[in-house]
Amino acid sequence: MKILLANPRGFCAGVRRAIEMVQTALARFGPPVYVRHAIVHNRHVIERLEEAGAIFVEEAEDAPRGALLVFSAHGVSPAVRAAAAARDQRVIDATCPLVHKVHGEAARSARAGREILLVGHADHVEVQGTLGHAPECTTVVEDLGDAESVSLPRGASVSVLTQTTLSIDDTRQIIDRLHERFDRLEMPKKSDICYATQNRQDAVKALARRASHVLVIGSPESSNGMRLVETAARAGADVRRVEDETELDAAWLAGVTTLGVTAGAAVPDCVVSRTLRALEAMREGCVGLEELSGAEELLRFAISSAAFPSEAAS
Ligand code: SF4
Repeated sequence: MKILLANPRGFCAGVRRAIEMVQTALARFGPPVYVRHAIVHNRHVIERLEEAGAIFVEEAEDAPRGALLVFSAHGVSPAVRAAAAARDQRVIDATCPLVHKVHGEAARSARAGREILLVGHADHVEVQGTLGHAPECTTVVEDLGDAESVSLPRGASVSVLTQTTLSIDDTRQIIDRLHERFDRLEMPKKSDICYATQNRQDAVKALARRASHVLVIGSPESSNGMRLVETAARAGADVRRVEDETELDAAWLAGVTTLGVTAGAAVPDCVVSRTLRALEAMREGCVGLEELSGAEELLRFAISSAAFPSEAAS
């Protein structure tokens, strides 16, 4: 069996920054540091941070008054900020800057009196955060059926925003349909779907062109990871998702001659390496590993020292 490794794969700039912010808070203030929602959607990342003293909660109300509270990379609504302020919590905001950009677009569209169609998964924490910036004028569009049934007049002034981690192909279809339905549709200058989502989907398509089977490493909660599964399947590959090497299925691998491997944006390199080692151990006939070429990702998000409170919470 030959293994082809997608490029790029694994951590994006927003995930790196968010994890580093929790680590810095722990180092600077000591545990406990509370984190609202999984900082990024990966079990291994969560477990490592818990061992270091992070405590994950779902809402600001679940953390004590005055606690240090980190907002996850997925972003929060103004209502969540208000709940944290009401509890005198000292907030460290690890929202990905690319999600912040979408929040700004939502607020600007609402101020301009436009209706917002937010393409995304209604139950995803990022969509809830964006929706919360303009709840009175936002409708979530999950699929083509929703695009069909939005009940606004044809001439309505409409802004389209999207979740950052959607399927590029599905979103294009939904937006095309919205363009057909509304005459005054405005899109952001630059797509809300982030560079990391785009690059990983392009990379998995390249993988599926050469490999009959594709293994996607990532957690089921990870939106961008699950989109990689769908993208590879649509490209014709037989696809499996695993959290890590413990979930590898020898029966599925039997007889595979070319296996493509990729990882979602929240997956640490060490989990990818462990999975590759386990694959090689399971298949003694492994004839090597080839890393495909792909988009070079140089983007890094700086962390301002102003992001941290000047002293520890009481
Ligand atoms: S997947 Fe995109 S939007 Fe999400 S954290 Fe990474 S860079 Fe930011």
